Amino acid sequence: MKITAIENFLVDSGGRGPWLFCAIRTDAGITGYGEYGQGALYRGLPALIEDLSRSLIGTDPLPVDKIFMDMYRHRRAETGGATAMAMAGIELALWDIKGKYHGVPVYSLVGGPFREKQRVYWSHLATYRTRRSAEMGTPPLRTMDDLADCAREAVDAGYTAFKTNIIFPGENPSMIGNMFAGSNDQNASTDLVRHTKRQIGAMREAVGPDIDILLDINYNFKTEGAIAIGRALEEYELYWMEIDNQDPDALLQLKMQQRTPITTGEQLLGLRQYQPYFRKHAMDTVKVDVQWQGFSQAKKVAELAEVYEMNIAPHNYNSHLSSFQSLNLTAAVSNVRIMESDVDSAPWRDEITTNVPEIKDGFMTIPTAPGWGTELDEAAAKKYEFKG
Ligand SMILES: [Mg+2]
Repeated sequence: MKITAIENFLVDSGGRGPWLFCAIRTDAGITGYGEYGQGALYRGLPALIEDLSRSLIGTDPLPVDKIFMDMYRHRRAETGGATAMAMAGIELALWDIKGKYHGVPVYSLVGGPFREKQRVYWSHLATYRTRRSAEMGTPPLRTMDDLADCAREAVDAGYTAFKTNIIFPGENPSMIGNMFAGSNDQNASTDLVRHTKRQIGAMREAVGPDIDILLDINYNFKTEGAIAIGRALEEYELYWMEIDNQDPDALLQLKMQQRTPITTGEQLLGLRQYQPYFRKHAMDTVKVDVQWQGFSQAKKVAELAEVYEMNIAPHNYNSHLSSFQSLNLTAAVSNVRIMESDVDSAPWRDEITTNVPEIKDGFMTIPTAPGWGTELDEAAAKKYEFKG
């Protein structure tokens, strides 16, 4: 079998840049699909895929890890960031080919499944509705009570866990990233800490003590501010507070100086970047993104986390293909805490893949079809092509 073509598909996500797909075609009639990267880089990433793919045309697609290591070593001067994401797009499409070639799910090729279903949380609860409630047809967020209603909605839909961000309801609702755009100080003022406490308090009050609440404070605070927020929220017993902090020692300080569990790592790409954090035990749960670093690297990160007595949580906010890729990861490893899952999305999301995830009582079923278990519907991808 030989690779004959590598193609990019950019599909309108209804929000923050397109969903990015890499399709690899073969002379055996098998096409593999990978969803990769993040939509903000929608010109650069497809161009990087084109650059990387030139040397792959005419080669055997089956030795996936070898192809990845060849790309990694040849691009040794620029292996991180966007290059890592583009390499992931190619690697993920190759895994899909390999699974389809052998007629088995990807996790079967690497020793799984470890499970038949995966617990997920409703992610970006209320967050997307700050900007997109009109197009998604969801209620406006005018008061803290409206945020509490979002929390009840997740529980009514069968979820036992949800994740939100710091949100300011009102006539023009916003989330903290929008409100603080342009500020580099990343301070947690007394007002902001109190506001966060009111928000999480209202949500906890709405759903009771048995539902798991997660808060992502993203990259909005220095360590001092994150400690202040973590301390203020201790009484609400969060499942975790998530933060993108670039210093392992600072994260360890955050972990030790307040009692809310800490999750981090979504921005880290590959074993080498995770290693310094693991050595410090700088987090309680390890965020791992399959779409940003590829399947093999994500699996190796999970296995290294196992050595350090930690569980992973896949970072997963794209189209359904990314959920299928991430489910294949959770089925391939022994140490998973929970998986991210977006519910509010573009109304056409179900149209662009051939299968959609089965969700019951807050669990996604591990797929059983060959490859990832779903495919990009190329006709639908063209219909909803991202126009910029
Ligand atoms: Mg996050």
